Amino acid sequence: MAAVAVMSALAVLVLVGGRAEGGVKVATPSSLRQGDAGALIVTGVPDAKLIEGSVGDRPLIFFPYADGYAALIGVDLGAPTGSATWRVGWVDSAGDPRKAAGRIRIKSRKFPVQKLSLPGNLVELDRATEQRADREAAQLNTLYGMASGERLWRGHFTRPVASTGPGEGFGARRIINGKARSPHSGLDYAAPTGTPVVAANRGRVALIGDFFFGGRTVALDHGQGLYTLYMHLDRVQVVEGVVVERGETIGTVGSSGRATGPHLHWAAQVRRARVDPAGLLTLPVRD
Ligand SMILES: [Zn+2]
Repeated sequence: MAAVAVMSALAVLVLVGGRAEGGVKVATPSSLRQGDAGALIVTGVPDAKLIEGSVGDRPLIFFPYADGYAALIGVDLGAPTGSATWRVGWVDSAGDPRKAAGRIRIKSRKFPVQKLSLPGNLVELDRATEQRADREAAQLNTLYGMASGERLWRGHFTRPVASTGPGEGFGARRIINGKARSPHSGLDYAAPTGTPVVAANRGRVALIGDFFFGGRTVALDHGQGLYTLYMHLDRVQVVEGVVVERGETIGTVGSSGRATGPHLHWAAQVRRARVDPAGLLTLPVRD
């Protein structure tokens, strides 16, 4: 069910300065959907002195990869559709500036509509609760804005809950007690209370919270602006600041916060773009 970013758009570079070093390629997906995560991979540039780039108005953060560099691309679930320009610039080993550019089509995605009935006091918040929820949202927003320089994740991402079906409800337009609410920015995995929840990849425990909406929450910082979030936990089994490995248990499934039953809410952000965490499972980066 995850979007597979097709690495079909191989843009061969126009080398600035015209020296035929050859072999330099930039691979991007030809298209991405709203909420997709993908990668831009530059090969044949083993020793750039500096590299930077962007997709649309979002700057990229590069990490060394294969004989070049790669960066994650996140398309927010509410991103405008159409054509986005990608751009990469670097200074090669001889000190010469080089650049490449191209386009990625951003396609719309049909999101489900969920109608929910919840007790009124969980929907129409009193002033104090509303302030609490705003404060908690601001806390997460501040976290997502921080992009540490080092990539902590490696290789493939793993699902945070084993032995359940695919998660559900990413991007769902929610109608709660008859009123449209903000879209659902994660995947829900229904599982019995106490089911282990594991880290999807290596990362630092950046935040542990007990939120009005999310309940007991763990946020992992995978570096360079990539975060995964685990909500409604019954128990949290890590502490802030530690680095956890892929597959390491960080807590258990529960129904803390505003939840209609035991499930894990798993969310991901790439440099503030709300992406479908299932897209991380099929990233083309393999080291
Ligand atoms: Zn959820």
